[in-house]
Amino acid sequence: MSKKFVSIRDVKDHVGQEVTIGAWVANKSGKGKIAFLQLRDGTAYFQAVAFKPNFLEKFGETEGAAKFETIKKLSQETSVEVTGIVKEDERSKFGYELDITDLQVIGHSVDYPITPKEHGTDFLMDHRHLWLRSRKQMAIMQIRNAIIYATYEFFDQNGFIKFDSPILSGNAAEDSTELFETDYFGNTAYLSQSGQLYLEAGAMALGRVFDFGPVFRAEKSKTRRHLTEFWMMDAEYSFLSHEESLDLQEAYVKALIQGVLDRAPQALEILERDVELLKSYIAEPFKRISYDEAIDLLQAHEQDADTDYEHLEHGDDFGSPHETWISNHFGVPTFVTNYPAAIKAFYMKPVPGNPERVLCADLLAPEGYGEIIGGSIREDDYAALVAKMDELGMDKSEYEFYLDLRKYGSVPHGGFGIGIERMVTFVAGTKHIREAIPFPRMLHRLRP
Ligand code: ATP
Repeated sequence: MSKKFVSIRDVKDHVGQEVTIGAWVANKSGKGKIAFLQLRDGTAYFQAVAFKPNFLEKFGETEGAAKFETIKKLSQETSVEVTGIVKEDERSKFGYELDITDLQVIGHSVDYPITPKEHGTDFLMDHRHLWLRSRKQMAIMQIRNAIIYATYEFFDQNGFIKFDSPILSGNAAEDSTELFETDYFGNTAYLSQSGQLYLEAGAMALGRVFDFGPVFRAEKSKTRRHLTEFWMMDAEYSFLSHEESLDLQEAYVKALIQGVLDRAPQALEILERDVELLKSYIAEPFKRISYDEAIDLLQAHEQDADTDYEHLEHGDDFGSPHETWISNHFGVPTFVTNYPAAIKAFYMKPVPGNPERVLCADLLAPEGYGEIIGGSIREDDYAALVAKMDELGMDKSEYEFYLDLRKYGSVPHGGFGIGIERMVTFVAGTKHIREAIPFPRMLHRLRP
C-alpha cells in the first residue's frame, strides 16, 4: 500500500487538512442524514462524522446515497480506510472530529462475538485474540509497555547492562517441583524458572546486569496472582549491601509507576485508576520491617474484628491474607526482610550473627496486590554455600558453574526479581493477573 495513513494519535497535527486514517469501527450511532463512527487504530479513539448531503454533492445522487448507506450499516470491527477533514471540536470528548469525505471498507466483520453487553470470563478468555481489541484490554497493554520501557530506561540510567539468561536449562534454579520438563535430544531439559543463577555470572563479569524474559513455573495454584508463564525482570549487582539493594528496588518501583503516569495517562483514565494514590506511592518512602516484626504485628492484631488470617508462629510462611494485611496496614509498598532460612532458597546469605534468618526481602504491594518483588543477598562464601547444599542434599555436580563463581574472585552481591505481570496488575488496578499479559498461560488455559 503506497498510501500514507495518519494515526489517530497524530490527527491533532492536521487540523483543517484532509487526511486518511486506517482504522476499525468500534461503535456507531446517528440517524437520518448523519452517521457517527467511533474509530480506533490502536493509538487512540476518535469520532468521524458522515453527512449525507455532502456525499450526494460530491459523488452524485446514486453513488453518494450508496456510499452513505454503506457507512450507516458498518458493523463492529469492520476495518476501514476513512478520508476526511480534521476539525477541532470542543463538544467531542476526543477534542477533534473527522468530517468524512470518503470511506472504503477494507475487511468485513460479520457477527463480531464480543458485543458491548456483558460477557463471562471464560467466554472472553476463549476469545482473548479479539478481547485484546477492547478499550480496557488495550489500556492494560499500554501500561505493560510503559513498564517495560521504564525498566530499560531505569537500568540503563543506573549503569546496568542487559544480559540474557538462557530459557533452556539443565538444572533447576529454585524449586524442582515446579519445573516444566522437555526432551532435549534424549536428555532432559527444563524451562527456566528464573535467570538468577546465570545473572550472578553476569554480575561477576559486568558488575551490574539485568535480564528480562519469560520464565515458567508449573504452579498448580489457581490464584489471581499466578501464571505458569510470566515475564520476569531480574537484576544482579556486585559489591552490593542489603540496604543498598532495598534502595535500588524502591527507586526502580517508583520509576515504573512514574513511567506509567508519564507514558500512559489515558490508559490509567480508561481503567479509572486512582492516580493520586499512585502518586502517593512515589512521594512516600516505602515501609521496611523484618519478618519477625511482621509476625509480632500479625499476632498482636489477629483478634481484631476486621482481620481474617490464620495464626502464625515465628518460622511459618505467610499466606496471601497475611501479605495483604501487612501492606494494607502500612498503606504503602512494604519490604518484609530477613525471612527464616528454612522457607527461602539455598543461595541466600544468613544475617550476620543469626543463621536462622537470611538477608532477603519481599516487596508487598498495597491494596491487596501481594508480593511483587523477591530479592536477596547471595551467599558468596564457597565453603558456606557447599555446606548449605550438602545440608539440603543437593546434587552439586549440577551447580559447578555456580560454585565456580565463589572460587574465583567472589564478592558480596545480590539482586531481585519482579514479575512484570504482578506490577502491571498493581499499577493498572485490575483484579486478576490473567489480563496483564497478551495470552495468559495458567493451569487450565493453554489456548488461544
Ligand atoms: P509467590 O510466593 O507469590 O508464588 P515466589 O516467592 O515464588 O512468589 P519469586 O520466586 O521470588 O516468587 O519470584 C520473583 C517474582 O516473580 C515474585 O515476586 C513475583 O512478582 C513473580 N512471580 C512469582 N511467581 C509468579 C507466578 N506464578 N506468576 C506471576 N508472577 C510470579
